[in-house]
Amino acid sequence: MAGRADSTVLAGARVVLPTGTVENGRVIVEGTRIAGSAPEDARIVDLSDHWLVPGFVDMHNHGGGGASFTSGTVDEVLTGIRTHREHGTTTLVASTVTGELDFLAQRAGILSELVEQGDLAGIHFEGPFISPCRKGAHSEDLLRHPDPAEVRKLMDAARGTAKMFTLATELPGGIESVRLLAEHGVIAAIGHTDATYEQTVEAIDAGATVATHLFNAMPPLAHRAPGPIAALLEDERVTVELINDGTHLHPAALELAYHHAGADRVALITDAMDAAGFGDGRYQLGPLAVEVKDGVARLVEGNSIAGSTLTLDTAFHRAMTIDRIRVEDVVQSISANPARLLGVYDRVGSLEPGKDADLVVLDADFALKGVMRKGEWITEPWTD
Ligand SMILES: [Zn+2]
Repeated sequence: MAGRADSTVLAGARVVLPTGTVENGRVIVEGTRIAGSAPEDARIVDLSDHWLVPGFVDMHNHGGGGASFTSGTVDEVLTGIRTHREHGTTTLVASTVTGELDFLAQRAGILSELVEQGDLAGIHFEGPFISPCRKGAHSEDLLRHPDPAEVRKLMDAARGTAKMFTLATELPGGIESVRLLAEHGVIAAIGHTDATYEQTVEAIDAGATVATHLFNAMPPLAHRAPGPIAALLEDERVTVELINDGTHLHPAALELAYHHAGADRVALITDAMDAAGFGDGRYQLGPLAVEVKDGVARLVEGNSIAGSTLTLDTAFHRAMTIDRIRVEDVVQSISANPARLLGVYDRVGSLEPGKDADLVVLDADFALKGVMRKGEWITEPWTD
């Protein structure tokens, strides 16, 4: 019994692998990992009529389960993480919203401990280095021009766990900050930006590799002023984040991005705030009051959309209702691409032997039925 008794064979499902979908496939879980072969006494779990896909990777997420990653206690942050895990997100980056520099540095210290103990995959600083013209749900009076010294201060406070900064790269200090981040292997993401097409091209050439929630909080695509959207969509070095909650983007905009960039350059994100997996009501996003009604979060003052209440299982399900987006495309953009960007594709992001046993069970209609993380069921597929 000992040693191999914890082997489980998940059998009979349609398994989505990097090479394509396998009908009646098997994934073998041994301990915390996916194994290449199973012992004879392995337990068999029958998943016929289900899909088996890799655990989701969310690189842009501000909270959930009533908890904020920007202001919550450690226990609250863990509640937020747990809420998203129950919805299939087995790898998660905590995003902060604009705050005072010292406050953000202090938050980085707290969140970095959760990265070090394996509960988070990193920290994403969204603001304060963003444009007042496209501030969305960020406090205008706390916005700053990107300053490499201040970027550095936050990177240091995060002790190597900062994975991404969202910057309005057209502002003074923007290009220098992009260069600094790129040199240190931290993602420079273009977002909350008022940049022109040409300014965006310059930032990409300097090393920016991600578009923060493409289409949202940036100038729209216009035929004489194509702006950041055209520059970000056309450049093969850039991955574009998309919020597929039915509020931030029209399905046709999502489809356009998938088809123009290709599924290998899309990352589905939630941009979730505290109300995700929790419910309607009054919340805080950093210093700003937010009202959530019918699942849509808006600032109390100004009515701007203030993050989403999305979870990635819903983003997956919605994507499958859009013509011409295939299940393999969704899996790539919800797991493999963000895992690659975050530098953790050797451990997560696909169902391959040797990787963490992070996986999601969906029914034939792509509704979430089970979640496993590091070999442990977070939600068991047979307790229905
Ligand atoms: Zn944003």
